[in-house]
Parts: sequence; C-alpha cells; structure tokens
Amino acid sequence: MFRINENYLQLNESYLFSTIAKRVEKFSASHPRADVIRLGIGDVTLPLPPAVIRAMHNAVDEMAVKETFRGYGPEQGYGFLREKITEIDFRQKGIDISPDEIFIGDGSKSDTGNIGDILGENNIVAITDPVYPVYLDSNIMRLGRSPKIVLLSCGEENGFLPEMPSQRPDVVYLCYPNNPTGTVMSREQLKQWVDYALENRSLILFDAAYEAFIRNKEVPRSIYEIERAKECAIEFRSFSKNAGFTGLRCSYTVVPKSLVARSAGESQVSLNSLWNRRQSTKFNGTPYIVQRAAEAVYSPEGQQEVRDMVSYYMRNAEMIRKGLTEKGWTLFGGENSPYIWLKCPDRTDSWIFFDRLLEECHIVGTPGVGFGSKGEGYFRLTAFNSHEKTAEAVERIKGWV
Ligand code: PLP
Repeated sequence: MFRINENYLQLNESYLFSTIAKRVEKFSASHPRADVIRLGIGDVTLPLPPAVIRAMHNAVDEMAVKETFRGYGPEQGYGFLREKITEIDFRQKGIDISPDEIFIGDGSKSDTGNIGDILGENNIVAITDPVYPVYLDSNIMRLGRSPKIVLLSCGEENGFLPEMPSQRPDVVYLCYPNNPTGTVMSREQLKQWVDYALENRSLILFDAAYEAFIRNKEVPRSIYEIERAKECAIEFRSFSKNAGFTGLRCSYTVVPKSLVARSAGESQVSLNSLWNRRQSTKFNGTPYIVQRAAEAVYSPEGQQEVRDMVSYYMRNAEMIRKGLTEKGWTLFGGENSPYIWLKCPDRTDSWIFFDRLLEECHIVGTPGVGFGSKGEGYFRLTAFNSHEKTAEAVERIKGWV
C-alpha cells in the first residue's frame, strides 16, 4: 500500500485564515444584516495601478498576434523584468545585484515555502514566534515536528525582535517589516544578524514582502544594504502588497552568486545554481502578461501610483494607531508596516478577543496566537481597507465598552 508524507499529519488542522473565514461565514449567516468590516487577512483592497492595467492590455494584444505571441518563457523570468528590478530596486540604491541573481516567481508564498527543497534535512532551522505561518508549516511538511526546528521567541520585552539563539542555527528566517507584529529591524540589528550568520556559516532567508511600507529612512529595505549580506542571505520580494498583485501573482527571489555552501563531499556549491535547477525542474515561469504588468511598476507612472497606494494604506494605519491609542490600548507596528499589533485589553485570550470583536463590533482581525504561541494575548489589524471602512471600524472600537 502506498504511504503518505506523515509529516502533514503533524500540521495544525487548517491554515489560520481558513479557520477565520469559516468563523466569519458562520457569524454572517446568523447575522445577515451585520456590516462586517474586515481588518483580518493581509489582502489588498485597492485596484491595480493604471500603468499596470495598460501594460497588461498591451501584453494581451501581443498574445493575439502570431509574430508577438509568447509560449513558454524562461523559468527564471524574462530579462526585461529582471533587468528593471536589478536597476531600480538595487543598483540605483547602491546595491550590486545582477539580473541572473533574480528569479521571478508567482508569489513569495511559493518561494518561501519551496526554498527548503534546496536545503539539507539536518539543518537546524530557526523561526521566529510569532511568525508568518508558511515558514513553519513548510518546514514541518519537510522535517515533521522536529527538534531541528527552533523557535525564537519575539515578545514585548525584546521589542518583538528575536534574540541571538544560544544553539547555532544553520538557517534563520527573518521577515522585516514583520508580519504579524509590524515591527522593523534597525540597520544595526540587521547587521548583527548578518555578522552572526557569516561567523556561524548560517543562511538567512530574508522576507522583505513589506519593504515598500518603510517610512523611516534609517530602516534598511533590503538585507543587501548590509555589507557582505550577499554571502549569507537570500531575499524574497513580492509585488502583492506594494502594487496590489495578490490576485495577479508575481514576486522575485534574489539568490546571490556569492552564496555558496559546502556539500557533504566538501566541494563548494552555489545556491544560485541549485535554485535555478529547482525552478527549471518544478516551475514553468510566471505568465508573460503578468511579468509585463510587473515591469510597468517600474515605469515613472507606475512608481508614483504604487507610492500613492502604499500611502493610502499607511494613512489607514495611522488612523488605527491614533484611534486605538486614544482609547488607551497598547499598540505596536503600523509605522513602517501595514500591520498593527495590539495587546488584547485586560489580558484577554486572543481567540476570545476575536469572537468579541466580531460579535460586538462586527470587525474581523487576526488572533495573535494564530501566528504562534508567543502571539497569545495579542491581535493583528491590517491597514488594507478603505479609509471609510477603517474610520468606521475605529469609531466602533472607540465606542465599545
Ligand atoms: N511573506 C509574508 C511575510 C507575507 O505576509 C505574505 C502574504 O501575506 C507573503 C510572503 C506572500 O505573498 P505573495 O502574495 O507574494 O505570495
């Protein structure tokens, strides 16, 4: 008889946001007139920028003509997009990344979830707690609930940042600006991690999905702003949150050529070659139309439109911060991130707080414990809604007794 991958049985029963969706569905079915405001899932609400839409229309037209039709593209992504990314996201900021170090993908969820394919099973993997659930679940899928997966506690006492682990990890996942806590890492703090990784020959998997939300110029937007990070880090970037691509799907992963590991046979192996091998075997490329859409993000109009979208959401974050601080609640994040991490008032358990907020204010958020045990007692709200709905949600909470 065939066998399954038993590690899947060690996962929590369902993905956090499916559980939330089911609870909201049940509530809405029994309260059909309730105007539920969703500040839960980190999905964008504004439509795609006009420059992106124009580029897609053009690309669709190209697909209708024999001479310009495109079939399978390069698995790593088209040169036109890899070059724009290299130029605008890195070289113009003084970071030397070349187009063949960029791999276009269909979303950072896939790449952060799949990166383990090229890593050994004996690695000690350090993951923060609380955390974006994909890092932990994808490691449990590979390794089971193993002592090799080490959780780095990120509590209020350390500003929700991980402390250097006492047990040397081989692989460390870092995500800044952070989902869910909305916190950022200063240049000095990130440098400490890079130095630690270089000294211990560890690999940092740096998720920068929210870099566009950084307002403070002192905060690094890319790990490669730190000297020698190209020798120890892979960076994941997404077009989902900055440019509204959550439904369109495009992202990229930077795997520098200077990132090398030793194989068991002691020869030097390039991670760039391994990831290239993995992608060209298991991935057939992001659609041409979507890559043209992503390219348009780098046009002058696209850049302005994306900045405006991010500012729109950050105004919501500011509204939430101001309103809830006035109510006397303790909040974190929301200054360089679309997420506000609040301390459940009166030390309420985070699922109980979820139910109360839904039933009494008709507002959906995300219970902190859904991101890990250290998230218990906290709650995440997102800035991804309209100004009107956000203002209404803040008013409801302010009037809540
Ligand atoms: N990384 C983090 C930290 C996220 O919060 C998300 C989505 O919420 C992703 C990656 C996935 O983004 P994508 O839409 O590119 O798959």
